[in-house]
Amino acid sequence: MKLPFAESWKIKMVEPIRKSTRQEREQWLKAAHYNVFQLASEHVYIDLITDSGTGAMSDRQWAALMLGDESYAGASSFFNFKNKITEITGFPYIIPTHQGRAAENVLFSYLVKEGNIIPGNSHFDTTKGHIEVRKAIACDCTIDEAKDTQLELPFKGNVDPRKLENVLAENHDKIPFIIITITNNTAGGQPVSMRNLKEVRAIADKYKKPVLFDAARFAENAYFIKMREDGYKDKTIKEITKEMFSLADGMTMSAKKDAIVNMGGFIATRLEEWYEGAKGYCIQYEGYLTYGGMNGRDMNALAIGLDENTEFENLETRIRQVEYLAGRLDEYKIPYQRPAGGHAIFVDAMKILTHVPKEEFPAQTLTVELYLEAGIRGCEIGFILADRDPVTRENRFGGLDLLRLAIPRRVYTNNHMDVIAVALKNVFDRREAITHGVKITWESPVMRHFTVQLEKI
Ligand SMILES: *Cc1c(COP(=O)(O)O)cnc(C)c1O
Repeated sequence: MKLPFAESWKIKMVEPIRKSTRQEREQWLKAAHYNVFQLASEHVYIDLITDSGTGAMSDRQWAALMLGDESYAGASSFFNFKNKITEITGFPYIIPTHQGRAAENVLFSYLVKEGNIIPGNSHFDTTKGHIEVRKAIACDCTIDEAKDTQLELPFKGNVDPRKLENVLAENHDKIPFIIITITNNTAGGQPVSMRNLKEVRAIADKYKKPVLFDAARFAENAYFIKMREDGYKDKTIKEITKEMFSLADGMTMSAKKDAIVNMGGFIATRLEEWYEGAKGYCIQYEGYLTYGGMNGRDMNALAIGLDENTEFENLETRIRQVEYLAGRLDEYKIPYQRPAGGHAIFVDAMKILTHVPKEEFPAQTLTVELYLEAGIRGCEIGFILADRDPVTRENRFGGLDLLRLAIPRRVYTNNHMDVIAVALKNVFDRREAITHGVKITWESPVMRHFTVQLEKI
């Protein structure tokens, strides 16, 4: 008999978690203005708000913390960090930052000007925020199929080359670079194929534009290329990631994702001009060039995390857990963005809460219901996150309205996945009775979802 699949690690340290009553949760959520970002983590049983910075580090990463060099300038930890990034990506110029959005802030301070257009596949919320505060436009050229949650495509995060080429042809002078997010978080953690990355490179070369990767989950993207794309089955993850990065001029990285650290990020590039242009902003916003907002010990742990998480077994364990949860939801016929993405399941709220109009934010309503049901904290990736149009100030209802269940790396077991699936089934079974959503009582001008205040209708 073939042995079943099991995790590629065993557990050395544990952290208790606590259940609560429905009555307690009702009070806590009301006090949090129906925004799960405002909840205390102690009031959460299973926390799926993000997979960012919430992973469990390995024993080698913990050991590396003790060897951190906390020298202000030229620390050995910086060189461990820099050399590992260069080894994996091929990029020689590295700027450390305290997380991914800080990398965006530093690089975009140099690259993005008022009136610019930045085309790519779906821009992540902080990326879009950093573009829009500079009075520039993020132009989403993702394939149309990504919007149909029930369509099974192997690379649903892809850029539509025709859309991209049209934008470049029409706005050539306004475009400082093309940005490709791998995996495509906003479209559901969906991967981008190597073939598509090559198509983007060819278009970029034709119009003489550089290509930037928003690479938070580049290793998960490489896993999907290995599993799904012709010609990559026998390549290692490190060979595939090297090839991916050979098609870009630089990257911004939230190391809180695929480097499995609790805090950290960086810019890496082959363009000396980008490095020279951005480095002053690192000193201004983050810190000196050999720490950029990170401790020496954190740079050590990041280097090891990056090395370990570009190995197949680690990624296989991770992505198979996400697929396990997807399989459980299939049993209950709960609709989500298909196929399951790399880091999360994105539940299609508009297909479930059909009586809640879009103006009452179905995905946020589903997020609220799941928390009240079982203390499980997901996150709305929908109309609240989509924010208002910077020009018209209207809500943007054009995209998907999803409840994201992000799975932290190496944190929960498949028993927890079973609890999540059944809790969601219980909400699903009473969906017809949910007829009212939520309304906004206060919001901030950009990135409103973190601090928005809501009321139940
Ligand atoms: C998380 C993330 C970011 C921002 O990184 P932070 O570390 O959260 O600041 C940018 N892009 C993508 C695709 C992300 O997933």
